[in-house]
This record gives sequence, structure tokens and C-alpha cells, in this order.
Amino acid sequence: GTVVIGGGTGFIGSALSSLLKRNGYSVILVSRMPGPQRLSWTDLANEGLPKDCKAVVNLAGQNVLDPTRRWTPGFKQNVWSSRVHTNKALAKAITAADKKPEVFVTVSGVGYYKPSLTEEYTEDSPGGNFDFLSNLCTEWEAAAKLPAEIESSVRRVVIRSGIVLGRGGGMIQQLYIPFWFGLGGPVGSGLQPLPWIHITDMARLFHFAIEGKENKNLQGIFNGVAPNVVSNKDFTKSFASALRRPAFIPVPLFALNIAFGEERAKIMTEGQNVKPKRALEMGFRFLYPDIDSACKAIVGVKKHE
Ligand code: NDP
Repeated sequence: GTVVIGGGTGFIGSALSSLLKRNGYSVILVSRMPGPQRLSWTDLANEGLPKDCKAVVNLAGQNVLDPTRRWTPGFKQNVWSSRVHTNKALAKAITAADKKPEVFVTVSGVGYYKPSLTEEYTEDSPGGNFDFLSNLCTEWEAAAKLPAEIESSVRRVVIRSGIVLGRGGGMIQQLYIPFWFGLGGPVGSGLQPLPWIHITDMARLFHFAIEGKENKNLQGIFNGVAPNVVSNKDFTKSFASALRRPAFIPVPLFALNIAFGEERAKIMTEGQNVKPKRALEMGFRFLYPDIDSACKAIVGVKKHE
């Protein structure tokens, strides 16, 4: 079958596309840039989903942590609408399709849960209503809803992702060079939790959600995080030691707040202890459950395929 991936050109999308192709799927990306095996968002609106579409995934979204973009109202609007509108566009295409796909998988963030040094969160925990990012998660997830008569026939999965660690994208791409020069260090006190997942496990979790495996009813919210959450300080130690570099220069909070704006610097200055309760219950096995094995794997490869 064919899997359609909105924003599939990105960091998570590339890893997922290769994994799906290795498992015998054909993949069509929805992208703002034309190319082979691609649809534009306008093509999608006009022509709809390809005929043999088994699954639809959405990973599109303006990069929140782009250090070259200031946290202005205009940029925030882009961050918001690139996620909400693309989910809506795909939901609309699914609604219009004669033959429905089996499953619609979208991504959201653990920013749904309130940063805390003490709380532990599962998919049952409340959240989604206390700041810009948490409200975005709520609307982003809601934008993937299908009309009632279709909700019952298309499985829907939402993966609330932690910080995805891997080469070629996400946070590691920003940290690699300073850490390589021995200029890495914990953010602030370093005590804040860092909810993380290795890119390979992230792609595998999407694949797991698409197939539903023997669990044909697999649906709902899944926290996309490794089972062993670490503190920011422990991550720093582990990554630096995999690179064989020191990392004792702390990054002051005020510097991140000035560079990124307080609202999004939170992703680095604060954190939430999130558990992948449902993935474990459903029998998902993590290849990289602990931070040391994940950091070693990241340092040992050029790109995750
Ligand atoms: P990337 O930035 O690597 O890729 C996202 C893709 O979205 C891009 O390749 C681009 O595709 C598309 N895109 C970017 N801006 C826009 C826009 N303004 N309008 C429409 N499409 C746009 O992201 P990741 O792969 O790292 O993440 C994928 C999703 O997962 C994102 O929504 C992100 O918020 C979420 N997530 C990621 C985490 C991480 O640590 N990486 C953590 C938590 C959530 P093209 O240029 O082809 O149109």
C-alpha cells in the first residue's frame, strides 16, 4: 500500500520514509517543494489522496527552534498555522476519499504537559491549556479530527513527541558543533527533565501505529518518549562522553531567553517527566530505551536511515 506523509521531507519524515520503504510500502510526500513522488498541498486539495492510500501521516510544521528566526507574532502565527492547517487539509482529503485509508497518524508535542521538576505524566494526565505551546498542541491534535461518521472507520493515532535525538535534524543538529568543541554544558541548573526519544524509535513508533499489528484497534494518544527520562544534566554528560569531550560550561537561562524568547526557550530551560505508558502496554519495544545507548548510536553514524 501507499503511505502519504505531509512534511515527510523533514527530519522525522525522512527516517520514517526509509523505514516504510524497507518494509515494502510506497511513500508519497506532501511538500511545499515539487519533486518525484510528491504532491503539493494544492494538488492534495484539488486531486485528493492517491488511490491505494493505506495510511496518512502528518509531520509538517514550521521549525519552532529555528535559531535564525526571531519569536515574533508573525513567526508564531506560522508555527501555529503550518501545523493546524496541514492537519485540516489531510483530514479533509480523507473525508473526501471514496476509499478511506485505514489510519491517520499525526504528531504533537509533550509541551502539552506542564513543565515540572516533580510531576510524572502519562497519556491520561491533564494539560494542553496553560501557555502558547500547550494550547497549540490542543488545537493541532483537534485539527486532525474527522467527521463522526468517518471517525468510526478510520483509526486515528496522535503521537505526543518528546525531543527527537538523531543526526541530521532536531536538537542534536544545534548541539553537535558546540559539544564537539568541548563547549557543551547543562542548561541552567540542569535538573529539568529532558523527555527524549531516539529518531529510530520515533520512526518505528509511527510504523507501529500505521500497522496496528495484531492490535487492530490501536488508536488514540501515544507519548513518543523513551521509557527512561533523564535530566538535562544527565543528557549533557551522556552526549559529551559519547563524543569524548568535556561539557561543564553551563548555558545560562537568560541567554536562551534572550536568543529564543522565553516562550519557546522553555523547551530547553524547562521540561516534563513523561512516560510512554500506552506504547509499552501495547507491546512496543524500544531499541534505545536508555540515553547512553542512544547517544553512542548518534555519535557513531552520519545519518539515520
Ligand atoms: P522538520 O522541520 O525537519 O520537518 C518538518 C517539515 O514540515 C519540513 O520538511 C517542511 O516540508 C514542512 N514545513 C516546514 N514549514 C512549513 C510550513 N510553514 N508550512 C507547511 N509545511 C512546512 O521537523 P521534524 O521532522 O523534526 O518534526 C516533524 C514534526 O514533529 C513537526 O511538526 C514538529 O513540531 C514535531 N515534533 C518534532 C520534535 C523534534 O524533536 N524533532 C519534537 C516534538 C514534535 P517541505 O519543506 O517539504 O514543505
